[in-house]
Amino acid sequence: MARPAESVTGLVVRLQPVKDHDLIVTLLSAERGRLDTWARAGRKSTRRFGGRLGLFADLRAEVRVGRGTMPDLVSAEVSHQWLVDGASWPALAFASYAAELALVAAQPDHPDADLIDWLRACLEQAPSASVDLAGARLAAEIGFLHLLGSFPDVRRCGSCGGSTAGGAVWLIADEAPTCSSCVVGGARQLDAAALLALSELTRVEIDIRLAAELVGEARALVTTRVGNLLAQVLHAPLRSAASLDPLTRLAGGAPEPRSNR
Ligand SMILES: [Zn+2]
Repeated sequence: MARPAESVTGLVVRLQPVKDHDLIVTLLSAERGRLDTWARAGRKSTRRFGGRLGLFADLRAEVRVGRGTMPDLVSAEVSHQWLVDGASWPALAFASYAAELALVAAQPDHPDADLIDWLRACLEQAPSASVDLAGARLAAEIGFLHLLGSFPDVRRCGSCGGSTAGGAVWLIADEAPTCSSCVVGGARQLDAAALLALSELTRVEIDIRLAAELVGEARALVTTRVGNLLAQVLHAPLRSAASLDPLTRLAGGAPEPRSNR
């Protein structure tokens, strides 16, 4: 006897065509964490799937979980489509990268509401990511690392525990920065504005515009440290980074400070 279908809500983070008409739809679901589902005839536009199943769609779906087999996606209704047709290539590259990061962190049967919120924030802001794609990427990565508990607290000096509000040196990626009073010679790599932006970026619902506060040397330093931290978390480069890397390099990494501030 067929098992009853269960309701799930979630984001479509990956679509893999199988056979002639089917799709494996990977959901980041609120109920079951990462969930691979089999959508029979999912590549055809059908009523069961509320039209064509697309990437970055928020779904209300019914799945039937079998024993030892991939759950069937019985039906799906799109409650919101992030990134509509005609989205720019940088927006798509940014969204794909965020979705792949989320896939790496997501686990089956471990719902992670923060991870879903972070990804939704990325998808919501993807259309404006091209204004400063390198900064948007950095903001997304900082939020992601924070979510995993892998981003140090930048507000407190790693040496004396005092505030870093007056500037700090960030020497080692997974250690807190050192405040300017603790550093011999008073070298300061991160100024107050950069540190404030960093501390505001260490939250799940990122605001990619904050990356505009990271300019010049601070931007370069944070990009390097975040790269170090990500390399510790990701055991292999992400496929979607191949699309994003050339675009973020073209952007030059560090925009000019905005004159109207
Ligand atoms: Zn200190």
